[in-house]
Amino acid sequence: MDVFQMMGRHDHEQVVFCNESEFGLKAIIAIHDTTLGPSLGGCRFYPYESDEEGLQDVLRLSRGMTYKASIAGLNLGGGKSVIFGNPDTDKNEYLFRAFGRFVDGLGGRYITAEDVNTTVRDMEWVRMETQCVTGISRALGGSGDPSPVTAFGVFVGIKAALKTKLGTESLDGVKVAVQGVGHVGHNLCRYLHDAGAELFISDINTASVDRVVAEFDATALDGDQIHALEVDVFAPCALGAVLNDKTIPEIKASIVGGAANNQLASSKVHGAALLKRNILYAPDYAINSGGLINVANELEGYNRERAFKQAEGIYDTLMEVFKMSADEGIPTNEASDRLAENRILSVAKFKTFYTNTSRRVFKRR
Ligand code: NAD
Repeated sequence: MDVFQMMGRHDHEQVVFCNESEFGLKAIIAIHDTTLGPSLGGCRFYPYESDEEGLQDVLRLSRGMTYKASIAGLNLGGGKSVIFGNPDTDKNEYLFRAFGRFVDGLGGRYITAEDVNTTVRDMEWVRMETQCVTGISRALGGSGDPSPVTAFGVFVGIKAALKTKLGTESLDGVKVAVQGVGHVGHNLCRYLHDAGAELFISDINTASVDRVVAEFDATALDGDQIHALEVDVFAPCALGAVLNDKTIPEIKASIVGGAANNQLASSKVHGAALLKRNILYAPDYAINSGGLINVANELEGYNRERAFKQAEGIYDTLMEVFKMSADEGIPTNEASDRLAENRILSVAKFKTFYTNTSRRVFKRR
């Protein structure tokens, strides 16, 4: 494995390999880009089959965080970490504290948080060794579960898509198919139901399904055909890669907007396929950025009201994405990438301007 070549592919700034065999810690921290600010991204605990698999994952995920933070208008860069191990058997306080010491050693260049297979409790162990951690419990002054804010962001994002596609953002009588009614999906169903939408849901967890059916009068669907329902909006809130060669031709909704990460099986191929079918796709990392907005808020002293207010901005962001996509005839995911990259370039220029002393002297005259 050629580490520098792998880092060079998407221009990653720094990769840190962490080893503390005394406590069973083997981890990688990747910092993709810190132009906008310190990198922030969750810590994933996963039994990777090889070092290369773990490295590839952390490089991909950290780069994704750069784009998500940028499109969300946050002054944060992209970072992520992975810990190698079995989450059912290998987690313990000292492993996470050892990880916390490595994070602390980066002097604020990387801020960690919960991710797949890590919990608020794990992050509280990390916090015993570093302040560079978010996503701790409300009781400790943290932001707690980000799902309600993520769901709210998805809700306003769906409204932006409706406005663009149908000329009205009203959800009254609008049919929405929600795939996955876990933390985010359940909260999203509440917002949609309260706004008058008609809900269709699916989940492999029957208890979650029963709850949403009872609370929000939703219609439950068995099997894996929810994407093909005759509805206005398809909201994937479970798995990645749900927009692929098989599903895209079967989608009848004119809008796709949901919380799931990495919805496009291939961003190049399937973003264009959705555009070709005239389906308005709300890019996943833009519409689900409420979770990141929520934890970022914690860095300034958590204020729930402010977090929701900031997440409301997802509406305007998506309107901008949809406009660029329409004006330039490019897929929405490409438009979102361009807007995110443009902001990083503009901020870099801005920062250069203010660090250029002669320019400042010149301006003062
Ligand atoms: P969750 O685990 O609470 O919910 C996911 C739900 O999907 C579960 O109820 C699960 O049973 C269901 N599911 C799994 N396979 C399914 C299938 N084949 N068909 C239908 N349902 C299926 O997770 P969550 O926190 O609600 O997150 C949902 C998605 O949103 C994930 O992709 C996550 O990465 C992404 N996301 C979440 C947040 C957040 O704030 N929680 C933020 C950004 C992105």
